Amino acid sequence: MKVCVIGAGPAGLTAAYELAKQGVEVEVYEASGEVGGMSRSFQLWDQTVDLGPHRFFSSDARVNRLWLEVVGDDYAMVDRLTRIYYKQRFFHYPLQPVDALRNLYLGEAAACITSYMRERISPTLEDDHSFESWVVRRFGRRLYETFFKSYSEKLWGISCQDLDADFAAQRIKKLSMAAVIKDALGWGRGGHRTLVDQFAYPLGGTGLVYDRMAEYVSALGRVRLNCPVRRVVNRGQRVIGLELADGTYTKCDHVVSTMPLTLLMKGLEHVPTAVEHAASSLSFRNTLLVYLNIANRDLFPDQWLYVHDPDLLVGRITNFRNWVPQICGSSENSIVSLEYWANDGDAMWNETDDQLIERAKQEFRATGLLGDAKILEGAVVRVPKSYPVYARGYQSHLQVLVDHLREMKGLTPIGRYGAFKYNNQDHSILMGLLAAEQILNEGQQDLWSVNTDYESYQEEATITSSGLVMAEAAS
Ligand SMILES: Cc1cc2nc3c(=O)[nH]c(=O)nc-3n(C[C@H](O)[C@H](O)[C@H](O)COP(=O)(O)OP(=O)(O)OC[C@H]3O[C@@H](n4cnc5c(N)ncnc54)[C@H](O)[C@@H]3O)c2cc1C
Repeated sequence: MKVCVIGAGPAGLTAAYELAKQGVEVEVYEASGEVGGMSRSFQLWDQTVDLGPHRFFSSDARVNRLWLEVVGDDYAMVDRLTRIYYKQRFFHYPLQPVDALRNLYLGEAAACITSYMRERISPTLEDDHSFESWVVRRFGRRLYETFFKSYSEKLWGISCQDLDADFAAQRIKKLSMAAVIKDALGWGRGGHRTLVDQFAYPLGGTGLVYDRMAEYVSALGRVRLNCPVRRVVNRGQRVIGLELADGTYTKCDHVVSTMPLTLLMKGLEHVPTAVEHAASSLSFRNTLLVYLNIANRDLFPDQWLYVHDPDLLVGRITNFRNWVPQICGSSENSIVSLEYWANDGDAMWNETDDQLIERAKQEFRATGLLGDAKILEGAVVRVPKSYPVYARGYQSHLQVLVDHLREMKGLTPIGRYGAFKYNNQDHSILMGLLAAEQILNEGQQDLWSVNTDYESYQEEATITSSGLVMAEAAS
C-alpha cells in the first residue's frame, strides 16, 4: 500500500511516522521549505523561536506516549506564567476571579460582581449559541466586556455576536462559585500542580518534535519539501492519486490531507453545487507575527501576555526568553513576537514588513514593557489560514462537507485547517495517530469527532514524575 500525506505539520507527520513504523510506503508532500507547519521552530538572531507561543499539553496518554518517544529526555517542564495585560495592569490567565477583582478598581469590581449576580438570577440574553451570550450568561456583561470582548474580536475579526459559542466552550473555563470561594480563602487546588501550572517544552523549540519525526520518515520513506499539492485526484467516490503544482501526477492508494479543507474541496471532481457552496461559506483568519530583538534580558516574566486593550491592535506578546534557556543560546537579548490577526483583504495583511515592524515597535513601547531598552531589529512572518473561523452556523456548512467526504474512499482529511478544527498540537497529533490506525486496520474511526472541546478538563490533569500525564484520558 502506498500512502501520500499532504503537509508536514504535526498531523501529517504523525500519520506518516506511525505508518512508516509499520512498514507502509509513505510519501509526505510539503508546500514550504520546512517541516513542522505552524508548530515549526526556526533560527532568528542567534536564537530559536516558534510561531508565537507553543505550549504542549495533553492528558491523552496516547499523545503523551508518542511525544515522549520522539522527544526523549530533551525537554523541560516550564512553570507557566501568562497574564492578561489590560490598561497597564496585569491579570492572571486563566482568569482567577479573586485576582481579577482585586486588580480592578473597587467600583469596577463591584459592578462586575453585580452584573455577574444579575445574570445568574435572571439572564439578560437569550442563549442564541453566540460567543457573547455564552460568556455574558456565565460571567456577566461587565466581566465579558473587560476580559473577553476586545481580545476575541481582535482575534476573529467578527463581532462576538457572530462568533459561535463553540469557541468559548472549547477554550474558556466555566466560572464556579465554589472555586471562587476556595480561591478567596486561599484553599486553591490543594497544591497539586496541573497542566495549567506547568507545560512540557522541547529544549530545541517546539519544532524539535516534528524535525525528528521528519528525519524518521525520511529514513524509511520520503519527505518532499517545496512540493505543493495542487489537488487530490478522484475517480467518482475513490481517490486515486495527487496532482502536484508542477503538474506531475502521483498514484497512491490512500491520501491523508492536512491542506486547507476548503482548497481540498475545490480540487475534487464531481462535487455537488451545494457542497461547493458550503465550502465557500467557511473562512480562515491569518496571523501576522512581528519579532523584535531587544537589548535586555529582563523585560517581563511571562511566557506570553494576552493584550486586551482595545486601543492596541496587538493581541498577544510572546517573550521567548522565558521558555527554556537553551533556545536563547549565549545571546543577551530578548526576542519578543507581537501577534496580529487579519483577513486576506485587510489593509494590514498587505502592509510591508517595514510598516508592520514600525507599528509593533510603537505598540510595544505603548505597553510600557520596553522601559529604557533598545529595539535592535525586527522581522515579520505571515501565517495564512491559521485560524478556522467559528462564525455562527459554521457547523452546518462543515457538516455538508463531512457528509460528502465520508463517502470518498481512500481520503482522510485531518488537522487544524485540514479538518477545519481549532486544534492545538495535541489534537493534530491525535488525529494523525488515529488516521494511521484507521488506514492500517481499515477501521471505522470517526476522525471528525476528535474532540477539541476538552481544554478545561485536560488542564486539570496532574503532572507525574515523568513530567507528562500518562493515565488514559477520561474521555
Ligand atoms: C500563533 C499560534 C499559536 C499557537 N499556539 C499553540 C500552543 O500554545 N499550543 C499548541 O498546542 N498549539 C498551538 N497552536 C496551534 C498549532 O500550531 C497547530 O494546532 C498545529 O501546528 C496544527 O498542525 P497541523 O498539522 O494540523 O497543521 P499545520 O501545522 O498548519 O501543518 C499543515 C502543513 O501543510 C502544509 N500544506 C498546506 N497546503 C499544502 C499543499 N497544498 N501541499 C503541500 N503542503 C501543504 C503547510 O505548509 C503546513 O506545513 C498555535 C498556532 C498559532 C498560529
